[in-house]
Amino acid sequence: MITLTLEKVEDTATGTKTFYFNKPDNFQFRAGQYVALKVDQLVAPDTRAGVRSLSICAAPCESQLIFTMRQSESGFKQTFWAMEPGATVSVTPPIGKFVLEPGDTRTVVYLVGGVGITPVRSQLIEEAQAGSERHFVLFNANRKEEDAPHREELKSLKLAHFQYVDVFSQEERELLPGEVKGYINKELLEASMDNPKECVYYIVGSPSFLEAMENMLHSLEVPEDQWHKDPFTGMDSANVIKK
Ligand SMILES: Cc1cc2nc3c(=O)[nH]c(=O)nc-3n(C[C@H](O)[C@H](O)[C@H](O)COP(=O)(O)OP(=O)(O)OC[C@H]3O[C@@H](n4cnc5c(N)ncnc54)[C@H](O)[C@@H]3O)c2cc1C
Repeated sequence: MITLTLEKVEDTATGTKTFYFNKPDNFQFRAGQYVALKVDQLVAPDTRAGVRSLSICAAPCESQLIFTMRQSESGFKQTFWAMEPGATVSVTPPIGKFVLEPGDTRTVVYLVGGVGITPVRSQLIEEAQAGSERHFVLFNANRKEEDAPHREELKSLKLAHFQYVDVFSQEERELLPGEVKGYINKELLEASMDNPKECVYYIVGSPSFLEAMENMLHSLEVPEDQWHKDPFTGMDSANVIKK
């Protein structure tokens, strides 16, 4: 395990915080990977021994390791919510294949539910920093604007070809251009893109969100070898606090 020290904490969305840790010199990862993170000194009992899988929200080009989490009543989250700069945690080396394929030039379509934005932020920041010419479309599904972590930063990303679509299920204010009310569905994809069958899809969120997206891609007849999935297991059943 690798020890990290907390440097900063920020509120990122409703009931959601972002934790900034130092990045050890030898820590290398690909944008979209995750770690198993262990807190050593729990402030409350935890059913999973203080360990969770967490996507690295930072891009490899950034100087810190960043994790964004939804609040819940679990001992793990209570410990994080009480954490102050200087606290330490342990992580495994990076894991996972939810990464962009080098050399693939097809349009990347991200289908994201809530805090599932974490590995996508990592990839988009890295691509922007590298001056990527690839085409990206991000469908970002949240209940309301204030529930969407890292939204402002992602909307203003300097990428050559980038379409950002907010999909709000419960937003009550008047919608602006680039925002739609409802859910990510077949009709929205067909209306937003010329060639949905020819794109590669990166789907990330809770298992139930993934299931809905898989059904949609089947109905669009997108071949399964064009999908990449990052199921945030534990999110559906977590007792997430919605403040
Ligand atoms: C690859 C990956 C990346 C993730 N990235 C993020 C992230 O960036 N941010 C984020 O907030 N969350 C992320 N998650 C989800 C995270 O690991 C937690 O499951 C989630 O945050 C809920 O934790 P909790 O402490 O709030 O709730 P928990 O107390 O963990 O409750 C969640 C529920 O899951 C059940 N459960 C226990 N063990 C498992 C298991 N192994 N698999 C599935 N369910 C189980 C519990 O019984 C409980 O009902 C990721 C998960 C995966 C797999």
